[in-house]
Formats: sequence, structure tokens, C-alpha cells
Amino acid sequence: MSRTLIVSDVDGTLLGDDAALVAFAGWFNQARDRVAIAYASGRSFDSVSASIANSQLPDPVAIIGNVGTQMQRYPGGEPIPDWPRAEPPTWSSGGVLETLLPLPRLEKQPEEFQSAFKVSFFLHDATAEELDEIRGALAAAGLFADLVYSSKRDLDILPRGANKGSAAAHLAQSLNVAPDNVIVCGDSGNDAAMFAHGFRGVIVANALPELKSLRSERAYLAEQTHAAGVLEGLKYWSV
Ligand SMILES: [Mg+2]
Repeated sequence: MSRTLIVSDVDGTLLGDDAALVAFAGWFNQARDRVAIAYASGRSFDSVSASIANSQLPDPVAIIGNVGTQMQRYPGGEPIPDWPRAEPPTWSSGGVLETLLPLPRLEKQPEEFQSAFKVSFFLHDATAEELDEIRGALAAAGLFADLVYSSKRDLDILPRGANKGSAAAHLAQSLNVAPDNVIVCGDSGNDAAMFAHGFRGVIVANALPELKSLRSERAYLAEQTHAAGVLEGLKYWSV
């Protein structure tokens, strides 16, 4: 049997219901010879590693951090080669800050959420027009960037093409797992990119409308929340 790779978001997807996570960890333990897991988070490698140490989250093979712009093996932290594929001078985190800080409603997130390949702001209840204006400002500054807006609050500016989805695809390729054997799991907008690579997926019941509105035969919408929803979805996909 070929190995299945689960690429799951952490906060709001596997974390959020401790009893369900215990059940998920128990399932994973008996499935670990045929299933590997990786985490894809908006948080950094160090921050997700701390959550693994402090919870029942199973040990992953790798962590995709900072919304897809960081990818390291777990637990050692060795970077997975050739990622991200940002090509200066079309991307510069300093340039993004310089361009967007003057905009009135954008509030820079704390330093721990910033990296060379991710610039993050708080922007509450952004309108489509506002997001277009931000895209326009970045383009006018010659920056090749993508916007990821989640939870009506978090605005991440990433190098164009680097997101949780392209990162999950790169990880699967580097682990020699065929796309048919990848299952992605999520609960919010920054997970949507993972559902755009032909993988099967699970959307937990507590997911935000921004992800639930994704209509795809390959995205199973669970009836249960958090880790229980993930487990339900994995069973639906006969993992
Ligand atoms: Mg989440």
C-alpha cells in the first residue's frame, strides 16, 4: 500500500478540542506505518514545535510554517531544499513594509509573525476594494506578492506563488508522495490554497465561511469539528 501524507493546518483544525485530539493521536499511532503527517501553519516552525511538545499532536515529518513560506524537517529543523522560490528583486519584505505601512487601516503584526518571506498585518473586516487597493500598491512598487486574507483579520503578504498549497505540493514531491496520496485539512482562508492542487481534502465543521464556500468534490466537509472532523474526513477518504 502506498503511503498517505496528511498535510494539516494546526490552529482551529487539529487544535481546539483536546479530547478529539487524543482520539486522533490514538488513531494516528496505529496508522503510522502507512500514514505520515506534516503541519502547515501560519505560525513559525519554532512556534508549532512548541505546540507539539505541549499537546497530543503527533510528531510530523515536516512543518510548513509562516503560511507556506518556510519548510523544515521535524524535529531537526533542516530546511527542505529549494523553498521558497522567491526571486529577488521582485520580492523584498522591506519593500512591502515601506509600501504598505503608510496605508491607514493596516496595523503591522508583532515581530514574531514577520519573516524575510512573510509580512503580516492586522486589517479588520477588509473589503474587496481595500484588498484590490493593496494589490495595486504592491504592483505599482514592482513587488511580486500574493495576499492571503484570513479570519476577517489577518493579512499576510507573501512572495508570489508561495502559499500553503504550493508548499504542500513541493513537500509531497520531495517525499515522493503522489498527489493522489495527499490529504489536506483546514479551517480558514489561508488553507484554501491547499485545495487547489488536486489533493483530496477535509474541511472541519467549525471552518470559517471563507473556506467552507470552497465547492469541490475533492473537499469533504466534515460534520464534526476540529480533530474529530479531521478523523471523520480521513475515514471518509478510506485512509
Ligand atoms: Mg487554522
